[in-house]
Amino acid sequence: MSGIGGNPLRITSVQPVVFFDLDDTLYRSDSGVMEAISRRITDFVILHFGKSEAEAERLRVHWRELYGTALRGMREEGYAFDADSYFAFVHDISLDLIAPAPNLRAAISALPARKLVLTNADANHAWRVLWRLGLQECFERVIDIKLMGFVNKPHVVAYHNVQKLVGADSSACVLIDDVAANTRGAMAAGWRAIHIANAVEDGVAHATVPDVETAIEHLREAWRS
Ligand SMILES: [Mg+2]
Repeated sequence: MSGIGGNPLRITSVQPVVFFDLDDTLYRSDSGVMEAISRRITDFVILHFGKSEAEAERLRVHWRELYGTALRGMREEGYAFDADSYFAFVHDISLDLIAPAPNLRAAISALPARKLVLTNADANHAWRVLWRLGLQECFERVIDIKLMGFVNKPHVVAYHNVQKLVGADSSACVLIDDVAANTRGAMAAGWRAIHIANAVEDGVAHATVPDVETAIEHLREAWRS
């Protein structure tokens, strides 16, 4: 864990609102699930736009780096496709590699805050994952890329839109996310941010921790002090 200054995650005046990223945050990043989704995205680009495998893979990485999601990149660069069929295709994967997480369920339930899922995926996928983990009753709501109007993390306007959606001030909001660009974007919007990672990157979050359980414990400590 690393922090910036003393207790940057401390929130005292209002009820905290904690936004949990979904993929690679609520389950382990070495599960293979995101690799399977990435493979499906590449296949979608091959099948729908007639790209070679190498070009489709290059585009997928390029879109994710530039726009936060491949979906946003395809829309911005003028590729015509139906978002619902895209989501159905890329999330048509087995979730067998994700194990139920009763300890995480207890930790999230005991956290004294409003708790939501904030994901660049769609809600169907999010609910499948939450049911698989056993976390389907832990969250006030799931905010997916459709609710964000396809303006997704890490764009600063996405965080501002989400705040309006849930009626929260930026000073109350915390994001827990495994993608550094997303936590950096949250900080730019005035949120607190915890990066799930094994190595600290300068300036991307108020704290870096190896897993979501540690992130929750870190918040509890910050709010106790
Ligand atoms: Mg993630």
